[in-house]
Amino acid sequence: MTEDLFREDSHLLQCEARVRRDDAGGIVLDRTVFYPQGGGQAGDAGVLRDAAGRERVVVDTRKGEAPGEILHVLAADTAGEPWPEGTVVTAVVDEARRRAHMRFHTATHLLCALVPHPVDGCSITAGYARLDFHMTDPLDKDMLTAGLARLVAEAHPVRHRWISEAELDANPQLVRSMSVQPPRGQGRIRVLEIEGVDLQPCGGTHVSNTADIGAVVVTKIEKKSARTRRVVLGFAPQA
Ligand SMILES: [Zn+2]
Repeated sequence: MTEDLFREDSHLLQCEARVRRDDAGGIVLDRTVFYPQGGGQAGDAGVLRDAAGRERVVVDTRKGEAPGEILHVLAADTAGEPWPEGTVVTAVVDEARRRAHMRFHTATHLLCALVPHPVDGCSITAGYARLDFHMTDPLDKDMLTAGLARLVAEAHPVRHRWISEAELDANPQLVRSMSVQPPRGQGRIRVLEIEGVDLQPCGGTHVSNTADIGAVVVTKIEKKSARTRRVVLGFAPQA
């Protein structure tokens, strides 16, 4: 298992780690700050650097085949000679990309609070976020943008905590997503709380206050199917 430091601290963007495996598939470390693609959120990019200053570029992060293993996927031109097992490296996440993920991801929680319907699809990238709601009523773009602006301006604290699987079983309404079920088998489930706004299981990375989301706008609402409304978010152009 790779120790997943981003789970306790989304703001930690650098750590020292030891190489466990380095092959054609990518690099596995004993611990990492890199978030692997999952729960709709894109994987992190960044660099790994050894003590001699050799840098290798990580273009994506994925879950490995073994449970709990995190795979750093390298750019083809920096794959090269593998590092021996045990090599100490510094792992540095691409901050701009991760900040965008954190802002959009937290904004999707606000959207969940504004649109009280089950979610049946989600995608969070550095350029946009989209959320599919299982519903038939029309949605209003400007009303949702105004609602997001209000919740951002209200500066609600954002924090995570862990609950037991039994607690989750007793509160099934916490699960908003129809497509992604919280991971079980570890005995505990990570829940994300936006004080007074939203509470649901989530393993992603978030900003620590809704004010840090900044200006987001609903760029598009699509009728994806008879029973699905897709909401697409973008960052407001800088003034
Ligand atoms: Zn989340």
